[in-house]
Amino acid sequence: MPLNIISEANRCLNCKNPLCRKGCPVSTRIPEIIQLFKQNRILEAGEILFENNPMSLVCAKICNHERQCTGNCVLNHKGNPIHFYEIEEYISDTYLDRMEIKKKESNGIKTAIIGSGPAGMTAAFKLAEAGYDVTIFDEKPEVGGMIRYGIPDFRLPKTILDRYQKRLEEYGVKIRLNTPIGHSIFIEDLFRDNYKTVFVGTGTWRAKALGLVGETLANVHYGIAYLSNPSSYHLGENVAVIGMGNVAIDAARTAFRHGAKRVMLYARSKRIAASEDEVQYAKLDGCEFIFGKQIEKITENGPVFKTAIFDENDKVIGYEEELDQVKADSTIIAISQGPKDKLVNTTVGLLPNEKGLLITDESGMTTLEGVFAAGDVVHGSLTVVHAVRDAKIAAESMIRYMEPKNS
Ligand SMILES: Cc1cc2nc3c(=O)[nH]c(=O)nc-3n(C[C@H](O)[C@H](O)[C@H](O)COP(=O)(O)OP(=O)(O)OC[C@H]3O[C@@H](n4cnc5c(N)ncnc54)[C@H](O)[C@@H]3O)c2cc1C
Ligand code: SF4
Repeated sequence: MPLNIISEANRCLNCKNPLCRKGCPVSTRIPEIIQLFKQNRILEAGEILFENNPMSLVCAKICNHERQCTGNCVLNHKGNPIHFYEIEEYISDTYLDRMEIKKKESNGIKTAIIGSGPAGMTAAFKLAEAGYDVTIFDEKPEVGGMIRYGIPDFRLPKTILDRYQKRLEEYGVKIRLNTPIGHSIFIEDLFRDNYKTVFVGTGTWRAKALGLVGETLANVHYGIAYLSNPSSYHLGENVAVIGMGNVAIDAARTAFRHGAKRVMLYARSKRIAASEDEVQYAKLDGCEFIFGKQIEKITENGPVFKTAIFDENDKVIGYEEELDQVKADSTIIAISQGPKDKLVNTTVGLLPNEKGLLITDESGMTTLEGVFAAGDVVHGSLTVVHAVRDAKIAAESMIRYMEPKNS
């Protein structure tokens, strides 16, 4: 364990108006959890964490703490904030294996969840806990969504997801894998088979293309595709990564672990979308961050850039005339992701916005009666804790929606 979490807990000021809690998208009851931890009431603390955020173990490991809980701790003004996530990780890790399965008596009402990522898993826990008969459908062979197929094992061990799957099954959740909805079976088939509501948590799995010359070359790949199965790629020694977000950094760090000797990340501006922690680790791994490079095209030898000219505020104000051909054996494009359109194209009345993301009201209901949605497929690629926050709202709405039919 990198920090002594007991001395970390002892430093907490137990603020009456905790800013750390305000900084957490799911309002984790941080001071209260720390007090329970100090009294060795780990399982009580774990229960509160899990109830509020079933993905607390995942969040403790991979949230952007610097922008959320830690970054808002009042002790930042002394330069030494509490690293609550380390305490949260210890408690959630202990609790996940020792938790008591508490759920209401089964009401026999069926509900379907499409997607087993953080949004789908959160909704499944909440609905199963409330006594509903939950079935998860996922097109992949294993549960977890992007946190299994995107985030590398060195950041989030996949065994955690196996443990989550076990807990879901103990809650009575049925899991049907290798089953894309919108392929052989459709949302209307779910209603035919008496699922009273459907939750869509299908995420954003379509890599955004650059639309540039050279993008179809054999040594050009998309970051999310690479991360889902890196050992099937032969990237060579020199790898260029276009982008500096989470996906770009995970792809770059993974490339080092699969034989690359030099990995360079390129961005047009001087802004890095990924968290500061991730950037530091990537630098430790040897990643080089190169700013002010606007991709023009990709050749067999690597990407070609225009070099930006910045003003004193680091704003791009123009480009140098000469093009910069970078030598790379492979180029990975990781600029962003959007949703696939399989469900929208096969479901009458399920409407997306102009970005292809599902339209929902504030309760999480889509434009189709009885179909709810949350997570990346609604707000675009964001984070686990945001998917949890919105999936909880949608699950509560689904329960309210199904309740009258219950009596
Ligand atoms: C490389 C990478 C690094 C990241 N790093 C972080 C990080 O450090 N911290 C953080 O908080 N977040 C991070 N994220 C973002 C985070 O993983 C996502 O925000 C989160 O997983 C979204 O959850 P979701 O449940 O909405 O969707 P997803 O996790 O994408 O899950 C969607 C699921 O739906 C399934 N599915 C899709 N279509 C269908 C269909 N038609 N039928 C059946 N199943 C379907 C998919 O197989 C998948 O299992 C990262 C993402 C990536 C890609
Ligand atoms: S859920 Fe994330 S942001 Fe909230 S306290 Fe835990 S680690 Fe911090």
